Amino acid sequence: MDYHGKPYYSLDAWCKNTYGEKLYKIALDAGLTCPNRDGTLDSRGCIFCSAGGSGEFAAGRLPGAEPVDGPFSIRKQLEAGKKLLEKKKTGRRYIAYFQAYTNTYGPVDYLASIYRQALMEPDIAGISIATRPDCLGTEIMRLFASLKQYFPDKFIWIELGLQTIHEETALFIRRGYPLSCFTEAMEALHKADIPVIVHVILGLPGETEEMLLQTIRFLNRCGIFGIKLQLLHILENTDLAVLYRAGKVPVLSMDAYLSYLQKCIAALSPDIVIHRVTGDGPKNILIAPSWSSNKRNVLNTLHQRMKLSSIRQGQCYESGTFDSLQIDCALYVGQGHFSPDHSPDQ
Ligand code: SF4
Repeated sequence: MDYHGKPYYSLDAWCKNTYGEKLYKIALDAGLTCPNRDGTLDSRGCIFCSAGGSGEFAAGRLPGAEPVDGPFSIRKQLEAGKKLLEKKKTGRRYIAYFQAYTNTYGPVDYLASIYRQALMEPDIAGISIATRPDCLGTEIMRLFASLKQYFPDKFIWIELGLQTIHEETALFIRRGYPLSCFTEAMEALHKADIPVIVHVILGLPGETEEMLLQTIRFLNRCGIFGIKLQLLHILENTDLAVLYRAGKVPVLSMDAYLSYLQKCIAALSPDIVIHRVTGDGPKNILIAPSWSSNKRNVLNTLHQRMKLSSIRQGQCYESGTFDSLQIDCALYVGQGHFSPDHSPDQ
């Protein structure tokens, strides 16, 4: 496996191995909602989720983006995204990323039309669809099968926001589905031969390092294609922000985050593609941790530390122990102290 000089198998490395060049992601807002927000399961959303449903980076919403007729014309958002990338891109192709809210939650005809709009663009290599495992019914799976037939040269990826395998944390963050729902969806997606990328949050309230690593080891056995390792951000207008301001949840220091991250990477199967190692909260609504807004610094420090300690993805995958790793530090910043009683409902 060629990691192209990095100590882990990044998405960039995968793109170069597969397409011979970098692919650029264009985040999209398809005007959908989420069952965890529209009252079907809950109306408050996950406790960390911003009002934009994690779609603040959608091409039509970025400063400097040319106005599009409403946020939902996928073709126009793609055009706007390409324009913004014009100066920095070296490759010729893109990934259309359906990011905001739950992108399989809507009438199937509408979903078919938005996915097709993206897949029909000649310079779109494939689409990545962020959704929930409880929103992948039979009709949606049929739609994927027909799209795969119609666009055999393009990929369709599904991104699932699992965040943790631990039911008590899932309840606390109001994820709204049990782990069994995730494993059933994984089975269906495997059968349909659709690669899955799983989102995991580092630093969830009440989770120890061992709990986090249990999530990573579980995912190693699920046959996932990729993973996004993301820091827990405290964003404005979320229930998590209320708890944070009341001193009821702490956030990770950069040292602690990098320590967790290195262990996750060392424990991860060497074949799993790491699509993200930071996750940048939108600066205008980011409350904490403030160090995370300097993404370049976080990435440089991670690479430097991994190099110095000779840590590499999969190093502890077989052994299951971290005896070979030289990592210390596990510090929180802020005064917050988490207790499971600090639920947002109390
Ligand atoms: S499932 Fe996703 S979009 Fe829905 S509330 Fe949770 S984080 Fe937000």
